[in-house]
Amino acid sequence: MAQDKSYQAWLDMLNAAQAQIADNEEQLGALDAHAGDGDHGASMNRAMGAVQEAIAGMQGEGVEELLKKVSGNLLRIDAGAIGPLLGTLFRGLAKGAAEGKGLNAGGLADMFRAGLDALRGQTKAQPGDKTLMDALVPAVEAMEGAAASGANARSTLAQAADAAAAGAAATTDQVAKYGRARNLGEQSKGAADPGATSLSLMLRGFADAVRDLLDDDDDPETPNA
Ligand SMILES: [Mg+2]
Repeated sequence: MAQDKSYQAWLDMLNAAQAQIADNEEQLGALDAHAGDGDHGASMNRAMGAVQEAIAGMQGEGVEELLKKVSGNLLRIDAGAIGPLLGTLFRGLAKGAAEGKGLNAGGLADMFRAGLDALRGQTKAQPGDKTLMDALVPAVEAMEGAAASGANARSTLAQAADAAAAGAAATTDQVAKYGRARNLGEQSKGAADPGATSLSLMLRGFADAVRDLLDDDDDPETPNA
């Protein structure tokens, strides 16, 4: 895929992620209120505002610079734990972009694997601990599976979004091991993890944007050009 098309795709993906978060802000706050302070919807809106500032600050650079700016802005916001976590995830995505990974199944899998690796330097949370890892880890595994089976970018992101949504939904019955919610023990069951839910919403936005941007002709199985 041409660089300018990749860049446009990332803009569309980030904007669609913001729309998903905005549409679900109340729900995210309610999930957080179950075992936390209820501010997650507002925090995520602030995070998406930081993403928009990064987009507005772009001066013709490419995907790598865009994702770097997004990361830097997310790391600086005052939005609880989610700013550093998302900022670190995007730092990994930017690193993948710097290594020339494109908007295709293998490139996406590599970029998000780099994001997951970066996050693992930040948190020891594992799937099952009721954190955003419950959405991210299955999403990355779905991307790697999609890439291995020769899927295109659209299908890869759709499979990742589905896996993340299933992972986030499964946190409903888990006991929190991190954050304020861990103090509640068994009482933390009964609502999905807000961070996992946000990440799955962002991935849904990414998938929707790429589905709408690419048609069958320009999303063959390995559109790396
Ligand atoms: Mg909170």
